[in-house]
Amino acid sequence: MVKLKLIFNKENEVDLVGLTPGSTVQDFFDAVDAFLTENPLPCNICKQHCCKGRFKINMDSVSAKKIAKGKVERIVSKLFVDVGNNKLEVFLVAGHKKCRHLDGLARCLVYKDRPASCRTYICLSQSLGYRILDSAIVAEMHHAMRAEYLVTVIKDPATPAAAIEPATALLQEIISTSVAYNCSSYNEILIKDCVRSDYAHSNISPEEVNYFHQIINSAEF
Ligand code: SF4
Ligand code: SF4
Repeated sequence: MVKLKLIFNKENEVDLVGLTPGSTVQDFFDAVDAFLTENPLPCNICKQHCCKGRFKINMDSVSAKKIAKGKVERIVSKLFVDVGNNKLEVFLVAGHKKCRHLDGLARCLVYKDRPASCRTYICLSQSLGYRILDSAIVAEMHHAMRAEYLVTVIKDPATPAAAIEPATALLQEIISTSVAYNCSSYNEILIKDCVRSDYAHSNISPEEVNYFHQIINSAEF
């Protein structure tokens, strides 16, 4: 069986081979893990440490369920929420404070359950194909996280009555466009379903979606 794998291409970019219509988000994460085992990054001596709050890190719905052991409401108050510019963003790290899951020895305490943004970030030059998958998967998992966040807001007795109706309307809109909502494992989500530009918070363009379909259609299965 063809297996999704990361390689260095002729331009020395991180690229992918073995992508099929049945490849799942978990397959992509497994390919990234295998690549980083073979090609470790110097995170332990890096001054920019990604987990120390230098960057914003999106939260994802499957990671949130795993870290919260199925009860997302347990961790929602510890996330960073931004509702500016008509967008609802839910971050694990908001760019000003180190991640709460980073221990004193620079180790991730939730490594096996860390969100998509943490799993797919590789600070090496990347092919367009890699960048498309990375952006699309992170966006899709974050979109489902918006829905999980709104479910907790609607259930919370402290939420003002006037906020329930708009939150419910937004929740319905997100659910109607979400692939990952209700999934509790990355194995349930096909990469090809994430690579889309048909909703407002998608991170990729129609041209990039076409490019992705060229890659998948040219692969031999
Ligand atoms: S992923 Fe790259 S930038 Fe981030 S901490 Fe590791 S070496 Fe540094
Ligand atoms: S979840 Fe882990 S990998 Fe991600 S930012 Fe926090 S400590 Fe770093």
